[in-house]
Amino acid sequence: MSELRFDNRVVVVTGAGGGLGKAYSLFFASRGAKVVVNDLGAGLKGEGVSASAADLVVEEIKKAGGSAVADYNNVLEGHKIVETAIKAFGRIDVIICNAGILRDKSFKSMTDKDWDDVFNVHLHGSYAIVKAAWPLLRKQKFGRIIMTSSAAGIYGNFGQANYSAAKQAVVGFSNSLAYEGAKYNITSNAIAPLAASRMTATVMPQELLEALKPEFIAPLVAFLTHEETKQSGGLYEIGAGKITAHRWQATEGVVFKADESFTPAAVKAKFAEIDNFDSPAVYYPTSMKDNDWLGKLEVAKALT
Ligand code: NAD
Repeated sequence: MSELRFDNRVVVVTGAGGGLGKAYSLFFASRGAKVVVNDLGAGLKGEGVSASAADLVVEEIKKAGGSAVADYNNVLEGHKIVETAIKAFGRIDVIICNAGILRDKSFKSMTDKDWDDVFNVHLHGSYAIVKAAWPLLRKQKFGRIIMTSSAAGIYGNFGQANYSAAKQAVVGFSNSLAYEGAKYNITSNAIAPLAASRMTATVMPQELLEALKPEFIAPLVAFLTHEETKQSGGLYEIGAGKITAHRWQATEGVVFKADESFTPAAVKAKFAEIDNFDSPAVYYPTSMKDNDWLGKLEVAKALT
């Protein structure tokens, strides 16, 4: 099997001072990439700043003979991170939107600030860097983007209303970028990783944490962002060495007559059928077009 390499590619990893971002940075550098190691050195809840987190990763890359530059900007100022990449290496090829914070609280106790801060880092931070880089990626007709979602974003989770909403949002963002980037050889995929880091240190048993090395997320991220990989608009859950692809599933559904008989009671009468995922007619919509609203309208008209 030939090694997938990133020679002459410039990879920006946000939140790369520790955890997953650090693992990605070291991996990309070991495969020939020039890496922009972004991290403002925040605490788990987004508090404080320190340049040392990014500096230590850059030092480690350089010691191993790789090429990297540190960037200490907040991801909310994505244009500054792009400027760092251009100034240091003259281009930008791969963007790994990875920076993140937690403000876990029951929804009852969650403040507006808890909500906004989490949304800002995960969603607005991902937006800001991609927005700044987008014209460059389009112009060079090449770009590879990774959005970092989470199982909490896919399924929801107690105490993570803010985090799960933001993590689902980046999936929609990634899917739309996949459409808009296709013509320009720009791909975007989302991952939902599970790995031992300070984010999971207090919520998982030690034995499991040992099996969940952040290094084991890098192979998927590197595959998805390699120049030969065309896959775009995907969502992959990955952890403990297992990767699964995710897609939507829809039931066959029920078409109602578009007249006064279409009432809440009519919905109630048919709800088990609407919700029946056991029917062989379940399908897997991959785009808005798969809903075939016009076709359903025709059926509804024929019923009236
Ligand atoms: P981590 O806390 O070790 O790393 C996050 C990094 O982001 C930190 O180094 C932090 O300083 C940096 N950061 C925070 N706010 C920033 C900002 N505004 N600008 C720049 N940098 C900022 O956590 P991790 O586990 O490595 O998480 C990485 C990503 O993966 C996050 O988006 C997280 O939500 C996601 N994730 C992780 C897991 C997991 O199991 N570890 C699970 C699901 C999702």
